[in-house]
Amino acid sequence: MRQARALALVVAAAIASPAGAQQYFGQNQVQFDKFQWKVIETPHFTVHYYPEERDGIMDAARMAERSYARLSRMLKHEFREKKPLIIYRSRGDFGQNNVTGDLGEGVGGVTEALRHRVLLPFTGDYKSFEHVLAHELVHAFQYDIFARGRAGNGLQTLAQVDPPLWFAEGMAEYLSLGPNHILTQSWVRDAALNGSLPTIKQMTERPDLFFPYRYGEALWEYIGGRWGDDVIGEIMNSAPNVGIDRAFKRELGLSLEELEEFVALRGEPSYRGRQLFQWIYARGCRQFEEMTDLPAALRAILVEEASIGALTCLDKQVSSDGTRKYLFGCADGRKIETVLIPDEGRLTACLSIQVGCALACAFCLTGMMGFVRHLHAGEIVDQVLALREELSPGERIGNLVLMGMGEPLHNYDATVKALVILLHPLGLAYPPRRVTLSTVGLVPEIKRLAASGLDVNLAVSLHAATDELRDRLVPINRRYPLKELMAALRGYPLHPRRRITFEYTLMEGVNDRLEDARELARLVRGLRCKVNLLPLNEAPAIPFRRPSRHRVDAFQQSLKSAGIFATIRESRGWDISAACGMLAINDRQKSLDTAACLA
Ligand code: SAH
Repeated sequence: MRQARALALVVAAAIASPAGAQQYFGQNQVQFDKFQWKVIETPHFTVHYYPEERDGIMDAARMAERSYARLSRMLKHEFREKKPLIIYRSRGDFGQNNVTGDLGEGVGGVTEALRHRVLLPFTGDYKSFEHVLAHELVHAFQYDIFARGRAGNGLQTLAQVDPPLWFAEGMAEYLSLGPNHILTQSWVRDAALNGSLPTIKQMTERPDLFFPYRYGEALWEYIGGRWGDDVIGEIMNSAPNVGIDRAFKRELGLSLEELEEFVALRGEPSYRGRQLFQWIYARGCRQFEEMTDLPAALRAILVEEASIGALTCLDKQVSSDGTRKYLFGCADGRKIETVLIPDEGRLTACLSIQVGCALACAFCLTGMMGFVRHLHAGEIVDQVLALREELSPGERIGNLVLMGMGEPLHNYDATVKALVILLHPLGLAYPPRRVTLSTVGLVPEIKRLAASGLDVNLAVSLHAATDELRDRLVPINRRYPLKELMAALRGYPLHPRRRITFEYTLMEGVNDRLEDARELARLVRGLRCKVNLLPLNEAPAIPFRRPSRHRVDAFQQSLKSAGIFATIRESRGWDISAACGMLAINDRQKSLDTAACLA
């Protein structure tokens, strides 16, 4: 109830009161119709200002862009439209503006839920102004995330999710002031000394008693300090999709050790963690209530504090060759694709590792969509758990290939964590020989993987046997040229009965000449390996052509006669864009600057 009223107030202040306030205050209002606003445009704002203030406003505009850059990175969100930033000359003008109506003395700035306009006066010292500006910009981000990038949208979601004041204002304070804010620290210290530190429930229900700016800021500071500021962006982006409670429960993909620690911290013996691990990963149980051999009290805690399942299945397409492509939604609304390929009585699951990809290979559609974000280990593992729910009786996922969207070794920690869970004998128990990790060739991470002892199969996307050509097709080759890559592979502790797979996408007139085959044979000679030839999957955005069958066969023949084991991989699921390099989702998943992501 409280929450509902608090929100109503915010919205009402933004959209309902101007007329009433104007009538009441009548003569005191600044006469805006005689006033000439000037506007300057910056990359993300249209800054409205009084012409006499121009010099100072240029500083304000720079401050706004500086805050934007920081907040955009932290909250993992970018504006699609410029936001109006309306800057008044004085606190008096601002207080009597004809947008929000009369404002109390304590209000430093306002951001409208509906139109996403940010209003504030240009007063005080720069430090205080920058704090208010950054605080309001956090609100602009919050509203924009709820509105999915379109001012005017998302009000219904906002009303439904009904973020408590400590959530919205506390976050705005923490992200504008940073940690170690002396005022907030004093509040928390006093509350701790007096035994009056509020619970989250009290903060939510009684913002009048427990000032949400200070206590909310302290809570966000704790979250940022404990789990890293990045999770604040994750929680914020999840909130419109799954609500506040669920947004705080991260799908971590907990390992056995972490589950043991989780139960131990709640006073339970560690074997309960093992039971949980088996329930979740071996039996595929999705509800804590069904874990009947756990004590009821522990189940109740789990229901309250945790959740199983990071993904929601949004769509499924079936190819004429039996390949199935699933579209999964993550908690933060990002989408990924996972492919199930029938193969001689078994199914192979092709897992995604990132939303998008930063490597920008010249012929890959995922590369063209750019990098959006890494998946968590839980989101990687959950693709297998969620797929199992979709299987018909008698079907089994026998092989896993990390060949979907993204580059596994660019998301090294989550990939390794997911693999440990997927291989664990108490869980899904995949034998390492049935799991293949495919990489574009990130040399330092190949060495780390070698040292990890994980022992899964390794596939390397080669596509060219000379640096000159590979630099063009696989840009990361400029950082890790073939010499370094091949040296790392020669040092890879390969299982005695296995080979490294080289993937080689054949493109007409680019890398499919017999000379290329001979060059390739020379490059890989002496390595226990096989070459998997993939005739290019064509798409309008891909500037290359698939060679004729005849040329593909001739290429294979040339490798064979040089003593290199080579297969041709028939493309699967082409008609539903499930084939290699064709997984790409473009709706509103704006990519970040790819170069910056890899730096
Ligand atoms: N990033 C990893 C995992 C992706 S695997 C890697 O590069 O290995 C996807 C495979 O499909 C890679 O070998 C990739 O080079 C290949 N591929 C990408 N686009 C393709 C296309 N249009 N046609 C055929 N294969 C393609």
